Amino acid sequence: MIQFRTLLDGLNYQKKCPLCKEIMVLEDRDFIEKVEYPRGHEYQKLSFALSRKSQDIVYVYTATGKVELKLGAPKAWYGDSTGYSAAIPTAEVYSGILMQGLTVYCDECGQYRYTLKLEADLSKELVRSVSLNSETISLDRDGKTHEIRSIYSVDKTEYAVFGSFAESILKDKVELPLIPINLKDPQETLDRIRTLLPFL
Ligand SMILES: [Zn+2]
Repeated sequence: MIQFRTLLDGLNYQKKCPLCKEIMVLEDRDFIEKVEYPRGHEYQKLSFALSRKSQDIVYVYTATGKVELKLGAPKAWYGDSTGYSAAIPTAEVYSGILMQGLTVYCDECGQYRYTLKLEADLSKELVRSVSLNSETISLDRDGKTHEIRSIYSVDKTEYAVFGSFAESILKDKVELPLIPINLKDPQETLDRIRTLLPFL
């Protein structure tokens, strides 16, 4: 499994789609906000929600691996019959590891994507690891779409074949031992899978 030195290195793992050569895009559902500075700048950071209930967030600096907790505004209020009321700060304690998936995909052809696994240590306020969790590529051959998903974190490759309509599955997903995707020649990866599965 590929480990990256920094989150930035992971985000730059494939800057361009290996199939159509367009610039890859970061899936924005995976984080709250991206604080933009020029690429690679030490202040460039992403923020993630720490809890569904609060506005507490964590910033992860992509180049330095620094992690910063930012606890939101007090949300709980109490009052009594005297009319007194006061804000009680939410005293949530965060420790342990924040695990977060981040997907980078091609918005142009939609046929290649990869997912990073980010682990941030909230006690030490540092990124603990960034690794390549999985890669998915769709290849057209013989009027069919062949989808190869290699999941490096569990050493498995999934393979499925679709008809001309994306929803028509011609062959149910087959699970294989890990076959790393050769991005220089993705068709070669498909050939290897087809050799393993001549009956498909
Ligand atoms: Zn593409």
